[in-house]
Amino acid sequence: MQDSKNAKTKSANGLRTLLIDQLKDIYWAEQALTKALPKMIKHASDEKLVKALTKHLGETEGQVVRLEAVFSSIGEKPEAKKCEAMSGLIKEAEEIMNSTEAGVVRDAGIILAGQKVEHYEIATYGTLCAFAQTLGEKKACALLQETLDQEKAADATLSAIAESSINAEAVMVD
Ligand code: FE
Ligand code: FE
Ligand code: ZN
Ligand code: FE
Repeated sequence: MQDSKNAKTKSANGLRTLLIDQLKDIYWAEQALTKALPKMIKHASDEKLVKALTKHLGETEGQVVRLEAVFSSIGEKPEAKKCEAMSGLIKEAEEIMNSTEAGVVRDAGIILAGQKVEHYEIATYGTLCAFAQTLGEKKACALLQETLDQEKAADATLSAIAESSINAEAVMVD
């Protein structure tokens, strides 16, 4: 009886450590995105794409602040730890922008790169919200859910823009 209780406490501590570690990772990633998104906006041509990315830049700045609230809700200090995955995704976005001509094809590439970022964030926030829920951290979970909803909406908007015009126009370009 005592052993199984100890095992349970031990795995809860392990999950809590993993939650904190991954919060540091996504905190770094969101901060990196506040610097990467302006470059993507500058390179985008389509008006709807510029608008969507600009809106999401504002949301991303809010997500950095929201993560600080998540840290404090679980009694931790905000700390960033380099996310190698986001660093790589941002590098790929830069490669795409450098290897395409400005216009619909580059726009299609920016959407591709942007959606890879959103999917990484959706996977992260979905999981971290579940971890927080399991650990009884209701406030943290609610905050993470708010960001998750923004990431899902951003992803859906990018899909809609790609489907509405950019991909069809990009195929007409030599
Ligand atoms: Fe984000
Ligand atoms: Fe990461
Ligand atoms: Zn450039
Ligand atoms: Fe996002």
